[in-house]
Amino acid sequence: MKEYLLSGSILCGDNFEVVEGYIHIRNGVITEVCEEPGYVDARAHGIIMPCFVNAHTHIGDSVLKDPQVTDLTSLVQPPDGLKHRVLRTTSMRDLVQAMRASTYDMAATGTCAFADFREGGLCGVQALQQAASSAPVDAVIFGRPTGSNSGDQVYGSDNTDRSCATDLEDEIGSILSCADGIGISSTSDYEDGVSAAIAECTTKYGGRFAIHAGELNSTDIMDALALTPDLLIHLTHASNDDLRRVADHDIPVVVCLQSNLLTRVGVPPVEAMFAENMTVAAGTDNVMFNSVDMFAEMRFLSSVFALSEQQVLGMCTRSGALALGLNCGTIKTGADAKVMVLDKDSYNLMGARNILRSVVRRARAGDVLFCSGGA
Ligand SMILES: [Zn+2]
Repeated sequence: MKEYLLSGSILCGDNFEVVEGYIHIRNGVITEVCEEPGYVDARAHGIIMPCFVNAHTHIGDSVLKDPQVTDLTSLVQPPDGLKHRVLRTTSMRDLVQAMRASTYDMAATGTCAFADFREGGLCGVQALQQAASSAPVDAVIFGRPTGSNSGDQVYGSDNTDRSCATDLEDEIGSILSCADGIGISSTSDYEDGVSAAIAECTTKYGGRFAIHAGELNSTDIMDALALTPDLLIHLTHASNDDLRRVADHDIPVVVCLQSNLLTRVGVPPVEAMFAENMTVAAGTDNVMFNSVDMFAEMRFLSSVFALSEQQVLGMCTRSGALALGLNCGTIKTGADAKVMVLDKDSYNLMGARNILRSVVRRARAGDVLFCSGGA
């Protein structure tokens, strides 16, 4: 039995209330949260907080770290955006290696789980599974059928497995035998009826359906909503009416602030999303635009939006877990023990008076003393 204590200032429960005490972890589950100031014999002492959930990534483009940022369409749009052209000529070995590096980077920066839109059909999903198998991070994988638009080819000159199904329904069935869901780009990237067919097949096979919407403009938001997705990505250009409809359908949203800023598409209306009581999670999006460091994403969110510290930290932890159906992102009895301990006496955090505010505004990976990780 693996059992230990962590002690210090605990960011406790759904509101991250600061409690002095310790948490008891047994076999990967938080079995006790105890308010009891004073010394206990613990594995680590400091600020105890939930690990991050990075609710939207594309780690396939870890092979492309630093392209010149031009317009979004020429960089990422299927079938011939730069990313897709690069992926088509990347060997499976290089792809897996690059993705593996990103999963280790996530673990090193306090993330316990991430949700990835993985291009390249079943082979793409299997490549990610291979890459993520060794890092202590849980991957929630949204695959993407290759037959649906020609941007997603089976990758790699050294990849001899050409047996991926071409029939859309068969392919979705086979992807969902390995992946958690299907994640596609905007409805505007598909011929009429194709995104609806993908959504229908995904539901039929019991997968979760996620889609980008409202990133470049608002024209695809209603079409995306008509597909009743389980998860929406971006909504950067959503109007208040759009947000009300999303809230009415109770669909969680993932915003990717740094990515949106870098690609100059705009700033997502996050305060308005909270005003509609939506579940708003955060993601770092394409690795070619942004690193997977959720401390950095959290700092950006707190700088740009007039939100409470609870809201910002919740976007980076609890809301992502809620959106993805994970039992983490919050410190409470019965939750998975995906937690980290920050050094209260680091050069960066020393003297912090408002622990929660300090964590949200200034904590960084170098402050992490202990991380229980994901897998
Ligand atoms: Zn995306």
